[in-house]
Amino acid sequence: MSDIPIEKFGWIFESSLRMLEKYPLCDNCLGRQFALLGFGLDNSERGRSIKISLAMTAHEMVLSAEKRVREMGVKILKVLASHGSLKEAHDLLKKMGKRVGEGETCFLCGGLFGNLQPIIDGAIERLKEYTFDNFLVGIKLPLEVEEREDEFKAEFNIQYGESIKNELSRVIGREISHRLGKAVDYMKPQIVILINPFTGEIDLHVNSLFIAGRYRKIIRGIPQSKWICIKCNGKGCARCNWTGKMYPESVEELIAKPILEATLGEGTAFHAAGREDRDARMLGRGRPFVIEIKRPKKRNIDLKSLEKAINEYAKGKIEVLDLRFGDKETVRKLKEMEGAQKIYRVIVKFDREITDEEIANLERELTGVIIRQQTPLRVLHRRADCLREKHIYETKIKRLSANNIEMIIRCQGGLYVKELITGDGGRTKPSVSEIIGAKAEPVELDVLEVLA
Ligand SMILES: [Zn+2]
Ligand SMILES: [Zn+2]
Repeated sequence: MSDIPIEKFGWIFESSLRMLEKYPLCDNCLGRQFALLGFGLDNSERGRSIKISLAMTAHEMVLSAEKRVREMGVKILKVLASHGSLKEAHDLLKKMGKRVGEGETCFLCGGLFGNLQPIIDGAIERLKEYTFDNFLVGIKLPLEVEEREDEFKAEFNIQYGESIKNELSRVIGREISHRLGKAVDYMKPQIVILINPFTGEIDLHVNSLFIAGRYRKIIRGIPQSKWICIKCNGKGCARCNWTGKMYPESVEELIAKPILEATLGEGTAFHAAGREDRDARMLGRGRPFVIEIKRPKKRNIDLKSLEKAINEYAKGKIEVLDLRFGDKETVRKLKEMEGAQKIYRVIVKFDREITDEEIANLERELTGVIIRQQTPLRVLHRRADCLREKHIYETKIKRLSANNIEMIIRCQGGLYVKELITGDGGRTKPSVSEIIGAKAEPVELDVLEVLA
């Protein structure tokens, strides 16, 4: 009549019946063993439809003329009523006047799938103080639950199943998504809700928010980042006026405060493409930075108003521009930019008058040259002692007075400009002091541009 291989049918029922004979299984835990079969179905639907089909077959057996077959039908219905907790089997047996016990607790999940609401409510409660667009549910299981499932799969040679972890993550995630109207994101979730549904533990891993931009420092005397007091190591002492800091404010803190107010984060980390000295200004289009906000409660902030808030708060000290959202990758790219070209403006004072020829010579000597710098003495306490070679591409000089000049230097990032002037006791070669043959010191230093 047909060439459909009829012998293919029945294996799902056969193996399901063997599982149920031995272990109580809820609809989810039975259906999960066939999770890769069928599409757009819940495991609970898979499990329930298998149980129903088995019950129908068993019912037909009960109607048989043969006593042995009838007895077998009743036996199967009893398995479905007890180990399968199938109400329809229970009712059928009752109608037939058979003695029938209650459904038993699922061997694999311990009844968890029927009782997920408290966990979901708990997670939603914890999420209340955060605003976010997407999340992911991670599941932590007691070892014995995973082991039990592994042994079960081996015992019944499960080929098309999925893990209980997977199913719990999906089922709980879907419910939270539905109730909060937020998307589940497997790639870059803003919040990972780590749940141990067996113990009720809920942990929120709130991923950092990254805001990138550029800053200008329009006055001198502010360090880039918070500088812990060297005397008390941050505990607070007379020297630091009990602030624990060397300087009352920093670029980092001036930017971070309004950002923490807007995002309600728990802390920040500041990353920038290099740094200028505390007494140097940072002008031009500013220096690229990324600020990482830890555990933000608000993410959907308007960067234009944030920019305004920062510039209002830090008025006359620093300014930010070009704010945009970034990620970890933005931080990594920033590190690569440390070697980007910089343009410096430095005012140099000599201990004697210098001639126009000397100025012209200095300009020539410091254009298209490689400077060899041994780590400056002033930073030796925090940097390894090594020799760096940095390019100067171009130097332009303007005389300001008999003893003073203004130098505009375009060079490779990482050049120590102050030492280029002084020579740092011979540790930087060549230097302005060495070329002129006079003592030279930097009076004012500005970064005019970070070319990145
Ligand atoms: Zn179960
Ligand atoms: Zn101190």
